Amino acid sequence: EKKVLDASARDLTPSYDWFQTDSLITIVIYTKQKDMNAELVIVDCQDKRLRGEIIVDDHSYLVEVDLDHAVQEDMAVNIAEKVGKVEIILKKKDNIHWKMLGQALEGHNTFIKHTERGLFYRKCKLVSKTEVTHDTKLLCLMLPRSTHLRVPIGQHVYLKQTIAGTEVVKPYTPVLPFLPLDLKEPPRHDGAHLYLMIKIYSCGLFTQALDHLQIGDSISVSNPEGNFKKSQVQTSEDLFLLAAGTGFTPMVKLLNFALTEVGCLRTVRLIFFNKTEDDILWRNQLEQLALKDERFEFQFILSQPTKDWVGKQGKISSSLLSEFVKRSRKDSKVLICICGPTPFTEQGVQYLKDLGYSQEEIHAFTA
Ligand code: FAD
Ligand code: NAD
Repeated sequence: EKKVLDASARDLTPSYDWFQTDSLITIVIYTKQKDMNAELVIVDCQDKRLRGEIIVDDHSYLVEVDLDHAVQEDMAVNIAEKVGKVEIILKKKDNIHWKMLGQALEGHNTFIKHTERGLFYRKCKLVSKTEVTHDTKLLCLMLPRSTHLRVPIGQHVYLKQTIAGTEVVKPYTPVLPFLPLDLKEPPRHDGAHLYLMIKIYSCGLFTQALDHLQIGDSISVSNPEGNFKKSQVQTSEDLFLLAAGTGFTPMVKLLNFALTEVGCLRTVRLIFFNKTEDDILWRNQLEQLALKDERFEFQFILSQPTKDWVGKQGKISSSLLSEFVKRSRKDSKVLICICGPTPFTEQGVQYLKDLGYSQEEIHAFTA
């Protein structure tokens, strides 16, 4: 059911227009948003089907048509951020005059709550698979040339596979290919690739199937989802990242953003919980990052260490948190981000609240 907005909000409904030259089709979407950016625009053009989604606060505007004629694979998306204008430029396959843009599809020209818009999937190719630890791999997926999609910091996508005749969907949080070791040239998203750090469980339904994908195979990837706002970091002075196992994944882009773009940050501390030393993801990179940037420090805490581990051990607890989560000044603005197995995250949030941190100072990553 699609909700019609009330009259007061209706003037803010985006609209679109289109025009053509001999060789091009240009679709212009007037979002009526002053601060548009590439993360708010998701465009897919498959065969003759064009789908352009614009996120406007908690709403979504959609242009969805079965194009009048065929177009070429490459597409351009231009965003005029300040005026909120989005241009989608398609190349005609044949230089003929189009009588119309195409047939409207189900969601065409609708402006509804973002959560009411179903997830859209496109097929991505597996480009590479590299080992991170004994059980965790970094997968690189390539988006189709006719897709424009950026995954914002702190958001996840869903992967979809058919396993034994049944469609199975699981969430994963894209990372960067590496941590920002060269602060002058931090890893940037080229727009065409997605990197996923995935732990393969020996009896895991989805991850076993993922592990069996070959280079060149395709997998369906959804639009991004998640409620983290990077403005939460932009104003903080102390950032604490509590990660357990693959709960490290949302911290990767967050670390990159914090250390390369947030001027007011004084300390960034990662408290990383794992079972054993062999499970620590990107340990070497974390150690190098701490050497490069004095604002960054880390603490590894193992729940099943071997005898020779001289570092901290245990699971998340009030005493561990009171030891490692401290304001650098009496009144400094803090943000504490937490991600890991559900019991870890729930206990962590409770301990932090008991220690006097407010809801606004804590962000828990969940599905
Ligand atoms: P299943 O068949 O569901 O389970 C098999 C066995 O795996 C279980 O018996 C258990 O031993 C183990 N296992 C499965 N799920 C969990 C769990 N949640 N906690 C602890 N043990 C478990 N995973 C990543 O590797 N990388 C990511 O970037 C990532 N991002 C995520 C983002 C979100 C928002 C959420 C909610 C989860 C994320 N996960 C991530 C976990 C992922 O979605 C799957 O749950 C995981 O890959 C296991 O799937 P499976 O089908 O292979 O395992
Ligand atoms: P793991 O089993 O290797 O455990 C890592 C550490 O987590 C342990 O050493 C321990 O310190 C802690 N831990 C585990 N179970 C605990 C419990 N019951 N109570 C308290 N602490 C506990 O972890 P893993 O296999 O890498 O799993 C990572 C988890 O993170 C998965 O559940 C995954 O779904 C979740 N995850 C969530 C998101 C998200 O919500 N955005 C993103 C990535 C991963």
